Amino acid sequence: MGLFKTRRLSKTYGHGDSKVAALSSADIALPKAGLIGIEGKSGSGKSTLLNLLACLEKPSGGTIGFKGKNLNNLSSSQELGYRQHSVGLVFQHYNLLEDKSLLDNIVFPLLLLGMSPSAARQKGRNLAKGILDDNLLGKLPSQCSGGEKQRAAIIRALAIEPEAIFADEPTGALDESNAVKVMDLLKEASTKRLVVVVSHNHNLLARYADSIVKIEDGKANHGQERTNPGQLSRGHSSLWWIKEGIWKISGSWRRLLSCFGACLIGFLSLLCSAAFFLGYEPCLYQERIRSLDAGVATVSYERSVSTDDSLLSLVVQERPSIDLVYEALEPLSSFSVEIDYSFLLPGSVEFRLSGGEGEAEFVPVSSLGSAYAKSLLIEGSLGSDDLSSCLVNDAFIDKYGSESIGRSLLVQVGGSYTGEGWEKEINLNLSLIVKGVVSEFGFLNSPRIYYSYPALSEWAAGHVVYGEGEKEVTLGELCESATSDSYYSNYRYRIFVSNKKDLQPFFEILQAYSDEDAPLTFTSRAYLSYASFLDLSKALSSCLAVFLGMELLFVGSVIVLSVLSIFASSRKPMAIMMALGAKKSSVISCYATPTFLMIGLSALLSLPLAVGFIFLLNQGFERLFGLHSLLRLGEAGIDSRLWLSLGLMVMAFLIVSFLALAMAFRKLSLSKEMHDE
Ligand code: ADP
Ligand code: MG
Repeated sequence: MGLFKTRRLSKTYGHGDSKVAALSSADIALPKAGLIGIEGKSGSGKSTLLNLLACLEKPSGGTIGFKGKNLNNLSSSQELGYRQHSVGLVFQHYNLLEDKSLLDNIVFPLLLLGMSPSAARQKGRNLAKGILDDNLLGKLPSQCSGGEKQRAAIIRALAIEPEAIFADEPTGALDESNAVKVMDLLKEASTKRLVVVVSHNHNLLARYADSIVKIEDGKANHGQERTNPGQLSRGHSSLWWIKEGIWKISGSWRRLLSCFGACLIGFLSLLCSAAFFLGYEPCLYQERIRSLDAGVATVSYERSVSTDDSLLSLVVQERPSIDLVYEALEPLSSFSVEIDYSFLLPGSVEFRLSGGEGEAEFVPVSSLGSAYAKSLLIEGSLGSDDLSSCLVNDAFIDKYGSESIGRSLLVQVGGSYTGEGWEKEINLNLSLIVKGVVSEFGFLNSPRIYYSYPALSEWAAGHVVYGEGEKEVTLGELCESATSDSYYSNYRYRIFVSNKKDLQPFFEILQAYSDEDAPLTFTSRAYLSYASFLDLSKALSSCLAVFLGMELLFVGSVIVLSVLSIFASSRKPMAIMMALGAKKSSVISCYATPTFLMIGLSALLSLPLAVGFIFLLNQGFERLFGLHSLLRLGEAGIDSRLWLSLGLMVMAFLIVSFLALAMAFRKLSLSKEMHDE
């Protein structure tokens, strides 16, 4: 009764001209027990035959019968089971795992079978009794002699009590006395099982072998024996790789630490740029809404007047019809349209502030009360809307200092007023106490002073600018009847939209009327600065998107390369593990686990670091340059989308790395790795 029976077994390597027939049409039968020697010249195909029998290679033709089953047709689970249970392998160059002690090498196949480490070690020690000294068992292979290593390799092969042991030139690298010890061991093992020994040492084989198969130029022939059907074991899945993977962390902590550092920096910069990328639009929108004068605009009507010179045309601004204005603002739920008195406090106005002088923009708001709610550092309290209070923005404080809070701003307004039969130069004094600071979108801001428009309007309407006897003229009346070329001509209306919900539709109206041909001309500082900043930031964000993409590629390739570098540096131990019956996916997991752990850990740590970094940046820049509003862009981007994209990114990196590893493994030839020194 035999264990193996091959029929017309052949193996060719390469294609076309470089095709090599390593083994051709071999018919051999191998018994269930005994030591069979395989002999032949170098290059005759001995190792090839052994590789085929051990399932390290697939044959190009013919069949290998093992216990009545064809080894070519095994499922992957059966093939795994065949390696785990049925065969033990011994090579010329030992193929021990270099980072494990001799004992750990011996017990490794037992762990693959799911045996507990302590039981496996006990069994390993028992097997090694009388063959290897106890003190040798704890040593690394690099600290042992060739003979000791080969004896450990034979004990490892015997540990699983296989049905066959294949030994390829087991004495090839040993001196005579060690060779004899090794052959004695194999001979003893052959009493219970088949031991196939390949050697070109004829004398040694003649002394030990029960029979010898001769291979000549890839052909082997041997007496035929009948095979007996039997059972094949299935592959066993055990979780050995988890412990092994964690153990590997301590072995390569330097490499892992640098992987961790590189990934941390990569994820941190990805998160920061993603935060800015995601944050710029919501931030600008929030700031636009937050801006105190978001709902304030003026509206006028522009008319072209033709002149005698046909090349020249004049544009005259006139007060539009109120119906036209109401029609334009129809989509809004609430708004007010007022006569414009803000010419009294135009664009930039000089003021005096306890001795010093300054210049700022005076900005009307519909009510100081609502502005008050959004302001900081309030000094005292803000009474009813009157012309004695104002708020300033943070750009104002940056320029004139926080001492100005609580002080009075003295402003002189007025000019040359003319009416029917009179002309008068009038100067009016206003005194406004700074009640608080409004923190606002400061990036493009200049110093500003917010005052209550209704208060100004009430004051102006009733203020007498000319009075002589019966005739009294108020500023209100003067403005109503002014001609368009006087500076208080009041050709505009002022619009106040105070409901926050109306702001978006209001900006849409401003957008719709931004055309040159539009019948009305709206002017809104909030809209203009938002629009120009949005354009700028759109350009910036496309740069950021390109940068982000490149960074993603960069971090991805660093991760994939660092994972692949493990494969490149550990091909041999990986091949040994697989030849001993470890599952391919377990081997990949075992070697990739430490790196994957580092990637995951660095991703997790990068989250709080990114938030802290953006926060610190924000604080630092605010203190240094007052640029906080720009950096709030980053803060606005810190939301669930950022975490989600980080999670997806890490998943994608890991999947790509695993696939890259699996691809690399497809090209891994077990037999080649096992035979290379
Ligand atoms: P032996 O072990 O008898 O010295 P081998 O079985 O190793 O011989 O090789 C037999 C022939 O097959 C040789 O000519 C060798 O060059 C060739 N060969 C072996 N393995 C490979 C391989 N992986 N790729 C290409 N040729 C190979
Ligand atoms: Mg060989």
